[in-house]
Amino acid sequence: MKKVIAIDGPSGAGKSTIAKLLARELGFEYLDTGALYRAVALNLMRLGLDNNSSDKDIASALRKTKVEFKKGQVILNGEDVSREIRSPEAGHYASVFSARKAVREHLLKIQRDASMNSDLVAEGRDMTTVVFPDAFRKFFLDASVGERTRRRTWELISKGFEVSEERVRLDIMERDIRDSKRDLAPLRKASDAHLIDSTGLSIDDVFNMMIDIIRGA
Ligand code: C5P
Repeated sequence: MKKVIAIDGPSGAGKSTIAKLLARELGFEYLDTGALYRAVALNLMRLGLDNNSSDKDIASALRKTKVEFKKGQVILNGEDVSREIRSPEAGHYASVFSARKAVREHLLKIQRDASMNSDLVAEGRDMTTVVFPDAFRKFFLDASVGERTRRRTWELISKGFEVSEERVRLDIMERDIRDSKRDLAPLRKASDAHLIDSTGLSIDDVFNMMIDIIRGA
C-alpha cells in the first residue's frame, strides 16, 4: 500500500472538494468512493433490484457490474454515468445498497487495489475505519446540517438538478441516520482521526488546516 490520506464524513461536509484540492497539491490520485457506491447502486436499480432483494441476487448482479474511473469520468459497464450518479435518487439508492454485505465486500478490494500503485486521497464513510485503517493521515470532516444542506442544494442546482432546500435537508438527515446506524462499516469518527468542523469556514481555511496536519506542522 502506498501513502493514503483518508477522509470520512457525512453528506455535504465538503469531502470531495477538499480531497480534490489536497490530491492536486500533493500530487496524489483522488479516490471518490461515493462514486463507486453510486455507480454500483445505479446498476443494481437498472437490473430491477431493491432493498428486499436477496444477498444471492445482489451478488449475482454485482458480477455483471464493472465500475472504472477514466480521465475523471465514472464508467459503468463501458457507459459514462458521471452525471447520472449525481442525482438525488442515485444518492438515495447508494445509501440503501451500501448497507448490504455483498456490495461492501465487492467494493472493498477495488478500493484497496487503488492504493497499490498510487498515493491516494480517499474519501467516503469508512476510509479511516475499515478500508485504510493504517492510512498516513486520517480526518473526519463534519459541518452542521444547515450548512451541509445549503452546500448540497447549491451543488445539485449547479449540476442542473431541480431540488428544493427542504427536500435536500430531509435527504441529508435520512442518509446521516442510515449511514451511521447500519451494522456494516457505519459512519463514525476513528479514534485517531483529526476532527475538522467546517461550519463557517472557507474552503481555503479547511484546506490549510488539513495540509498543515498532513505535513506535520
Ligand atoms: O459520498 P456520496 O454522497 O457520494 O456517497 C453516497 C452514499 O454511498 C453514501 O450516503 C453512503 O451510504 C455510501 N458510501 C458508503 N461508504 C463509502 C462511500 C459512500 O457507504 N466509503
